[in-house]
Amino acid sequence: MSAKILSGKDVAAAVRADVAARVAELSRRGKTVGLATVLVGDDPASQVYVRNKHRAAQAVGMLSIDEHLPATATQDEVEAVVERLNADRRVDGMIVQLPLPAGLDGQAVVERVDPAKDADGLHPFNLGLLVLDRPGPIPATPGGIMEILRFYDIATAGRTAVVVGRSFLVGRPMALLLGAKGTDATVVQAHSRTPNLAEVCRTADILVAAVGRPELFDASYVKPGAVVIDVGINRTDAGLVGDVDRDAVAEVAGAITPVPGGVGPMTIASLLANTVMLAERRSASGN
Ligand code: NAD
Repeated sequence: MSAKILSGKDVAAAVRADVAARVAELSRRGKTVGLATVLVGDDPASQVYVRNKHRAAQAVGMLSIDEHLPATATQDEVEAVVERLNADRRVDGMIVQLPLPAGLDGQAVVERVDPAKDADGLHPFNLGLLVLDRPGPIPATPGGIMEILRFYDIATAGRTAVVVGRSFLVGRPMALLLGAKGTDATVVQAHSRTPNLAEVCRTADILVAAVGRPELFDASYVKPGAVVIDVGINRTDAGLVGDVDRDAVAEVAGAITPVPGGVGPMTIASLLANTVMLAERRSASGN
C-alpha cells in the first residue's frame, strides 16, 4: 500500500486565501490588521521562522511589526516590549518566538501577552478556554493539524487517536482538540514514559507524532490504514526529517503528512487565522 500524501501546503493556501479575504473586508471598514513578533537573540532557526511569519503576514495584507532584541536583553526588557505591544493599537496579534535564549523565562514572557492579542494561543487564559471547550485562539500547530483533518475529510468521531508528546505547545492542546465535543475521537496521550510505545501507537486510527526524535516512528508503530501526522522537525546530517520514517510508514499507513510540506506550513497559516479572528473580535467590540 502507498499512503495518500496530506499536503499541508494545499491546506495552508486555502487558509491564507480565507484570511486574506477577511483582512480585506476589515480594511474596507477602515481597520488594518497588525501582527507583531518578538524575537530575542540570533538563533538562525528562530530568525528564519520569524522572517517567514512576516512574509506570510504581509502576503495576506497584514501590517507586520518586528521587534528584535539582542541575546543580552534582560527579562524586564523583553517583558517591557511585550507590554508596549499590548498597548499598541496597531497590534491585533502578537507572538513571542520560543525558545528564548538561556537565562530568560519564556513562559513568564508569554504570560505578559494580553490574552486578547495572543496569536499563538499559548497564554494560560487561552489554554484554559481550550480546556473549557470555549472559542479562542488555538495553539497554532495543533490548530493547523485540525485544519488538515477537516480539509481532507478525515473522520475523527469514534476513532482512536494516539498523540505522542505532551508539550504545552503541541501534544497537550492536540489531545484536547481531538477529544473535544464535535470532534469526538477517543484520545490516548503518550509520552517519553509510556511503556510499549509501538504497541500503544498501533491502536491508533489517527497517530500524531510530536516528540522531536528523527524517524523514531517506523512501520511497527502504525496500524494498517492509519492516518499519520508527523509534527517533528529535526535537522540531521541528511537534511530536515520528521519524527516518522516516511518511506517505511507510507507502505502501511492510509495517509501521511510529509516533512517538509505537511504540518509546518499550517503553523503559520493558523497564526494568521488566529490574528484575523482577534482583529475581528476587536473590531466588533469597538476597541
Ligand atoms: P518538546 O521537546 O517540548 O516535547 C516533546 C515531547 O515528546 C515530550 O512531551 C516528551 O514526553 C515526548 N517524547 C520525547 N521523547 C520521546 C520518546 N522517545 N518517546 C515518546 N515520547 C517522547 O517538543 P515540542 O515543542 O512538542 O515539539 C515536538 C516536535 O515537533 C519537535 O521536533 C519540534 O521541532 C516539532 N514542532 C514542529 C512544528 C511545526 O510547525 N511543524 C511546531 C512545533 C514543534
